[in-house]
Amino acid sequence: MSVLDDAQRVAAKFEYRAEELNKGVKAFISQMHEGLQETGTTLSQIPTYVTAVPNGTEKGLYLAVDLGGTNFRVCSIQLHGNTTFSLTQSKVAIPRELMVAETSKELFGFLAKQIEIFLQTHHGEHYQAHLEKRNTMGAHAALAETELFQLGFTFSFPVNQIGINRGTLLRWTKGFDINDAVGKDVCELLQSEIDALHLPVYVAALVNDTVGTLMARSYTSPGKTGTLLGAIFGTGTNGAYVEKLSKITKLKTMQGSDYDKSTGEMIVNTEWGSFDNHMTVLPNTPYDWDLDNESVNPGIQMFEKRVSGMFLGEILRRVILALTVNPQSRLFSDKDSGENELHSTTTIAGDSALYKQWGVDTAFLSIVAADSTPDLGVIRQTLSRDLGVDAATTEDAEVIKLLANAIGRRAARLSALAIAAIVIATGNNVSRGGGEDDVVDIGVDGSLVEFYPGFENMIREAFREIPEIGEAGEKRIRIGIAKDGSGVGAALIALVAAQAEK
Ligand code: ADP
Ligand code: MG
Repeated sequence: MSVLDDAQRVAAKFEYRAEELNKGVKAFISQMHEGLQETGTTLSQIPTYVTAVPNGTEKGLYLAVDLGGTNFRVCSIQLHGNTTFSLTQSKVAIPRELMVAETSKELFGFLAKQIEIFLQTHHGEHYQAHLEKRNTMGAHAALAETELFQLGFTFSFPVNQIGINRGTLLRWTKGFDINDAVGKDVCELLQSEIDALHLPVYVAALVNDTVGTLMARSYTSPGKTGTLLGAIFGTGTNGAYVEKLSKITKLKTMQGSDYDKSTGEMIVNTEWGSFDNHMTVLPNTPYDWDLDNESVNPGIQMFEKRVSGMFLGEILRRVILALTVNPQSRLFSDKDSGENELHSTTTIAGDSALYKQWGVDTAFLSIVAADSTPDLGVIRQTLSRDLGVDAATTEDAEVIKLLANAIGRRAARLSALAIAAIVIATGNNVSRGGGEDDVVDIGVDGSLVEFYPGFENMIREAFREIPEIGEAGEKRIRIGIAKDGSGVGAALIALVAAQAEK
């Protein structure tokens, strides 16, 4: 058996057929309903206390920070009130050691420091004026005198939100693990480090990145249609959507601050990364199984572990390794010593990233998917440059392409499952026809959906296989990247919060 046959057999394990997809949609809808009724279910369905989406006329200067899974972004956003904005931002990679620090102070102190650097760099005048006041009248009085920057804090981990700027951390995900933060109010953790540096900044809103994406898309989206859903496909995956207040029956039993009931709606954060943690409908392969077992949170975030950027590269790495050990059909085993002396043989460096957990970035899958040269030269170069595999053959590269595409395709089809379920559950019966501008608007963000070639197309293909959506419905679903979504969205929620305070 050739290595290509072997690879085809493995790739087939990642097929996610229409029948399974439709079963998945039904399970998602039922887990959504469960989550609206009680706490502690697989879909957390967290109420956000944000009860309206913007219409593009909002104005003002706001700060926003975003703790994603990989980077920390600080930005200031000027909303012009005509669906446009200007944004200034800085971005730093979060040092790995801070993700698993002993105390939360180490991480949050680092975040506050980045805010200080940002203010010095980009809002020097305001910051300098504040410093002078501080020198003349003392830190406390200076803070009382200065107009504080209202900051929206995008925090993309599951929190139990109990108010617009209050929320306790439920659990870490995406490789973070700082024990003493669990159960604490993350806004307070950030505010106290901001205060320790005497910065003129008030943490006005706690924002989940999905909610921010939804808000940002709604501010910038064309036409009058409000956005239904904001979805993230980055390091992790998650979605937030507009739900009828009357359907969030668990709100009655929850401690929560007062909120505006006049719209009859509230944005709900699904935390869909943990959809079907008990594995009733999710696909599974030996590679998913091993990845989960060797992760910091086995049995948790099972949907996310099949969909998002943190994991797809790691699934591929495990599949590749498995194919390098089979003696009958070994990947990277070109030992051509025939007539052509110049033909080098394939080698895997001893310190290749293939041998390291998390060694393969999901960006590699995008590179692979994009290479359509006849000899797959880009894939072979990347194997050599990034993964220590020298002189891979075209057949090796074909194998990599087959496997990577299978993993990416399954992720896109699972993404479609979640989006479709929400469209259907909220009664947006897109399959039944409707007027020209009868669109369902969806905002998305994250490197995977933004950069993986054809990700949206694969999502759309899956939509058409779901009878409640079908060909007609698929056309009415409008998907737009919420560029800088988390920043603008956080600014918009800080604005809403500041208005509520008045
Ligand atoms: P965050 O989740 O921190 O907000 P991103 O949305 O940029 O950040 O997502 C980062 C994740 O996306 C990482 O897991 C990374 O592996 C993956 N990624 C980065 N570049 C690409 C790419 N070109 N194609 C696919 N995935 C990518
Ligand atoms: Mg993000």
